[in-house]
This record gives sequence, C-alpha cells and structure tokens, in this order.
Amino acid sequence: MKPLQFAIIGYGGMGSYHAKTIMKKSSEVVAVKGVYDIKSERQDVAQADGFLAYESLPELLEDETTDAVLIATPNDSHKELAIAALKAGKHVVCEKPVAMNTKELDEILAEAKKCKRTFMVHQNRRWDPDFLMIRQMYQEKTLGDLFQIESRVQGANGIPGDWRHLQKHGGGMLLDWGVHLFDQLLFLIDSPLQTIQTDLSYILGDEVDDGFHSYLTFENGVKVIIEVGTTNYIPLPRWYVKGMEGTALISDWDLNGKMVKATHEETAAPKPIQAGVGLTKTMAPPREDATEVLSLPAVETPYPSFYANFYDVVVNGGEPIVKNSEVRRVLALLETILAEESK
Ligand code: NAD
Repeated sequence: MKPLQFAIIGYGGMGSYHAKTIMKKSSEVVAVKGVYDIKSERQDVAQADGFLAYESLPELLEDETTDAVLIATPNDSHKELAIAALKAGKHVVCEKPVAMNTKELDEILAEAKKCKRTFMVHQNRRWDPDFLMIRQMYQEKTLGDLFQIESRVQGANGIPGDWRHLQKHGGGMLLDWGVHLFDQLLFLIDSPLQTIQTDLSYILGDEVDDGFHSYLTFENGVKVIIEVGTTNYIPLPRWYVKGMEGTALISDWDLNGKMVKATHEETAAPKPIQAGVGLTKTMAPPREDATEVLSLPAVETPYPSFYANFYDVVVNGGEPIVKNSEVRRVLALLETILAEESK
C-alpha cells in the first residue's frame, strides 16, 4: 500500500495538528510531502518540524509528486483554495466549516465532479469517543428509546485567535463549534428535522456570535438541545441524555460520567424528603432497588479512521463516511440561522 502524498495549505493550529498528529497516526495511508502558509513565520515552523516549505501556492499546486491537498486556512479562503487544488488535479481534504455558504460549496462540488477528484470535509468529531458512546446508546437502545439529547461545549476563554472574531473570515461559534455539534446530531438521528429555534449570544461584544442555544425537534419525537458558550466559568456536562429506561451523563472528553437505569423491581414508593422549606415525594431520589447505577458502556470505533476512509474513497472508490450531501445539509441549516439573525 503506497500512502497518498499530501501537501498542506495553512500551517496554523489545525494544519500542524494534522501533520504532526492525525496524519502521523495514519501513516500507512497518508504522508506529508510539504506545506505552504502565507505567513513566513509559519513556514519556518513547518521547516523546523521537518517538512518541506513550498515557496508559493503555485509551487505547491504544481508539485506532480503529490496526490492530495489538505486545506487548513481560515474559513473564507476554503472555496478559492479548494477549486485551485481540484483544477490542479489534486484530491482535497478541507477543514470545517467547508465554506461560507452553500453557494460556495456547490461551486466546489461542481469543480470536483468536473475534475473527477475526491473532495471530503474533515468532520472529525464523528470519531469522538463521547459521541460514539451516545451513538451506541441511541442505536442499541441501551436506555430504551432516547427522547431527549443535550449536547454542550462550554468554556470561559472567549473567542480564540484573530480571524474567528470577524464575520468576513467566517468567524463566530456557530460556524466553529456549531458545525461540529449540528453535524453529530444530524448524523445520529435517523429522522427528518421538524423544527429549530436558535438564540445566538453576543455577550463579548464581537460582531460574531460567541455562543448559542439551539432547540431542535425531529419527526420521530426526539428533542435536542445544542449549546455552545465561551463565557461559562462552570461548564455543564458535555452530554445529558434521557431514554425511556434511564438517563446518562457524560461530563467531559475524558468520558467521566454514569448511567442510571430503572430496574422495574416491585418497590415501595419513594419516601418524602425535606426540600428547602417544603416537602416532596415527586423529587425525592428513587428507592435504592428501583434503579441501578452503571458505568458508561465501552465503545469501539465502528468505522475506519478519517484518513483510512479517505484513502479507500480515492484508491478503491469506497463510500465516504462524511458525505458531501450531509455536509451541505448542515451548512444550509447554519446559513438559515445566520440569515434569520441578520434580518
Ligand atoms: P489558525 O489561524 O491557527 O491557522 C490558519 C493558518 O492559515 C495561519 O497560519 C495562516 O497564516 C494561514 N493562512 C491563511 N490564509 C492562507 C492562505 N490563503 N494560504 C496559505 N495559508 C494561509 O487557524 P486554525 O485554528 O488552524 O483553523 C484553520 C481551519 O481549521 C479553519 O477552517 C478551522 O475552522 C478549522 N479547524 C478545525 C478543527 C477541527 O477539529 N476539525 C479544529 C480547529 C480548526
């Protein structure tokens, strides 16, 4: 098996993470030939990391020894760079969000079709262990049918970096973390989206949203809350899900958490407890034999790594795990939310 030779455009946080971590882990299928970044200091870093630094974008695109290009630049440059790479005969992996809007994405996809090249978006959070755990619970009905799913990422560091603060570069949290969380939920739930209500927040005074709260309902009855915050000094759990047979909580990316399931034992009614200055039986904890506390289930990654899949798509004509139609659906949704906001 000969690894696909990659050139990377953009050697910032994510470009260097691909080169030094993600692609390295998939070295049987992909290798980095060289890098190009518009900032000379990032070219220097790439060289210090042991990579060839192309002197210009044309030099990178004209390298006949490469098969593919990874685009890891700010969001507003993805379309132009993707089309240039496709025209140069390269397959393309593009960072998320794929583009600024569906019109741009359609232009990219038309070019990929014309050039007969693979174009795939790095929706890497479909491989997150916490998400895979929720997906397994949903599909295997570990807690019975899930009817409420709450997915949150919350920090207290504001919006990071420079371009993420600006609309023209595609900044803001909806296009940053939102694209991951909506992608996960729409990939998970096998039923049409019925309604969506989103409230973007501007607490930090930037021109772009610094977080949001979204409430979605699906035709199969599942209700979803997606929340992103950058001013949360106390974050809520990463996942909280309710099923007909129990509840699960995943606190963080280290997979701390638990499941509590109903035992359906014949059991006496809960005893009333003192709650504040009142008394309640409704909100008293269930009797000990009425529930069991379980560890979160172990999960195996059910599909090959991103780059193993990309290789399979390019070399063997395999099925992409991240389909462009799915990416377009998420982008269309985000585009609608942002259009509503600017009215
Ligand atoms: P960054 O600012 O750290 O890096 C971007 C780099 O691109 C910079 O070094 C900049 O000089 C360079 N650049 C800008 N325009 C360029 C051009 N026209 N040609 C060549 N180089 C250019 O940003 P980042 O955090 O690495 O984000 C880059 C992309 O990766 C964004 O689309 C972002 O949404 C995505 N991203 C994805 C994930 C993920 O988990 N999938 C995580 C972080 C970022």
